Amino acid sequence: MNIAQNLNKIKESIPANVELIAVSKTKPVSDILEAYNSGQKAFGENKVQELVKKQAQLPNEIEWHMIGHIQRNKVKYIAPFVHLIHGVDSLKTLSEINKQASKFNRVINCLLQIKIASEQTKFGLSFIEAQEIISSEGIKHLKNIRILGLMGMASFTNDSEVIKTEFERLYNYFIESKKLSCENYNPIILSMGMSGDYKLAIEKGSNMIRVGSAIFGERNYT
Ligand SMILES: *Cc1c(COP(=O)(O)O)cnc(C)c1O
Repeated sequence: MNIAQNLNKIKESIPANVELIAVSKTKPVSDILEAYNSGQKAFGENKVQELVKKQAQLPNEIEWHMIGHIQRNKVKYIAPFVHLIHGVDSLKTLSEINKQASKFNRVINCLLQIKIASEQTKFGLSFIEAQEIISSEGIKHLKNIRILGLMGMASFTNDSEVIKTEFERLYNYFIESKKLSCENYNPIILSMGMSGDYKLAIEKGSNMIRVGSAIFGERNYT
């Protein structure tokens, strides 16, 4: 398993406008360094504790993406450095991110997570709920956040037609959301696609993919 080779193969196969986030969850810092030394700058983690620990040990030039669901009481730990928070699904969480960002004089970039999969367990908003958040009175006061677009995960299935339909739906929401006018909503990022489905996601309009196992190998959860 060669991390640099895997990265290059993926980068060569995706259009230049698509940003690759290397999902390093459960993987050691040595793997991250190997990817970093081959030119990868953006990494994604889904647990706050793990993210904070790794950030402290690795170069400051790394852009850290929080891709998992974030609990409000943990926002403070990543607020000093996080580059983009993908999995935001409430106005309350946005307010907390705003509060913590202001303490560090930062504007923190966020994406709203939209539920497109049919599974019950996935986090996320309906598109109607997302529109309500973006159009709300409350969001106008949050000067230390900027919502840069939408994120979603397709159903866990081998049926590529189902996956395509879900990605297409999210793309349509993304386009539709551009009509909403709000100072801190600037929809330029559509984060969809993982190791198994990033090609379909790009076909359907994704411009940010979150890829883990295809770069670092299968994860061992022990
Ligand atoms: C783990 C994870 C990924 C990457 O998954 P792979 O299948 O290993 O590419 C992408 N997005 C989220 C939100 C994840 O939790």
